[in-house]
Amino acid sequence: MRNWSLSIGRIFGIDIRLHWAFLALFVFVISTEFSAQNASTAFRSLALVGIILGGVVLHELGHAILSMQAGVAAKSIILLPIGGITVLDESRQIPELQPQTAWKREVRIALAGPLVNLIIAFVSGSILLAVAPEIHLWTKPLVHASHLLRSLVWTNVILAALNLLPAYPLDGGRVLRAFFSQRLDPVQATRRAVTIGQSISMVLMLTGMLSNPWLTLIGFFLFIGAQLEERSAVFQSVLQKVRLEDIMLTDFATLSPADTLEDALDKAVHSLQDDFPVIRGSDMVGVISKQKILDALRVEGNGYVQSVMNRIFEVATKQESLASAFRKLTARNLSIIPVVDDQRLVGIVTLQNLMHSMALLAESRKLRREALNS
Ligand SMILES: [Zn+2]
Repeated sequence: MRNWSLSIGRIFGIDIRLHWAFLALFVFVISTEFSAQNASTAFRSLALVGIILGGVVLHELGHAILSMQAGVAAKSIILLPIGGITVLDESRQIPELQPQTAWKREVRIALAGPLVNLIIAFVSGSILLAVAPEIHLWTKPLVHASHLLRSLVWTNVILAALNLLPAYPLDGGRVLRAFFSQRLDPVQATRRAVTIGQSISMVLMLTGMLSNPWLTLIGFFLFIGAQLEERSAVFQSVLQKVRLEDIMLTDFATLSPADTLEDALDKAVHSLQDDFPVIRGSDMVGVISKQKILDALRVEGNGYVQSVMNRIFEVATKQESLASAFRKLTARNLSIIPVVDDQRLVGIVTLQNLMHSMALLAESRKLRREALNS
């Protein structure tokens, strides 16, 4: 789905991506809203899409600011015409809170977006009523490319109202999930919310076919959004479920602190590993990378592994989850984690190895699903 969106810039370090659905929206607006088509209608349609995009961006920034305050960093935001999908930074640990406080935090973050739209609608509506009463705020059609200022107000009202629907991944659905998560584990809570969300999107699509094509379009976008979210929730749950003992490398080379760097390089050349645990007797005393060996040889000439190795390292137990190892690796910028069982080194997990395993897991899930669907 990532390929279905285009990066349009960064705000607060968050990658803002535009989903191609916006192009579909533009085609929809220009083809349904006008009978006569010329350059000016194209421009007005583009402006209307721009108004919707602006409302969505500010809405998402509302979420992003509150979630940053809560310490949950967003990596990217995919903008869909009905709102955005925030992709959280998986490498950063989400501060674990007691469920009693966690769900309130989630509700606050969810409500921030619609609140921004309501404020925009209220402020722009008040200004229009005061300075340009001839615009007739209450005349239908409320949103139309031929009435851009009125559309600005109502687009934001609609964005707020729409996002408060209890259809995950819309904000109302997030609130619902937060309530579920008081009693269920996060993945179950997400699944239940996604199921409700997909049912609502189906209902919208069907009723839209009978009444208003906008509803069909909204239902369609909602369906895309729900799928995007479910995938990331499932991926998270896989990361949580898989244990390090299932993916760790058990056939690996080690170095001794008394090895010379030239010996170490010789060993490294004959191994696919980029990082090596350094072992004295049965104790882990450090880690060293191929690159570090090369750099040290180049700068200081031959020496001992002991003087160059990294003494600070994280250890994981074989029962730990993939998610936990991934956080440890990325949080401290490490490239290897020794896996121990009762103080004994039983395997290693490297960033490279972790990436491969995650790709394999994703692939095998996809194959299994295709097998089920065929
Ligand atoms: Zn939202």
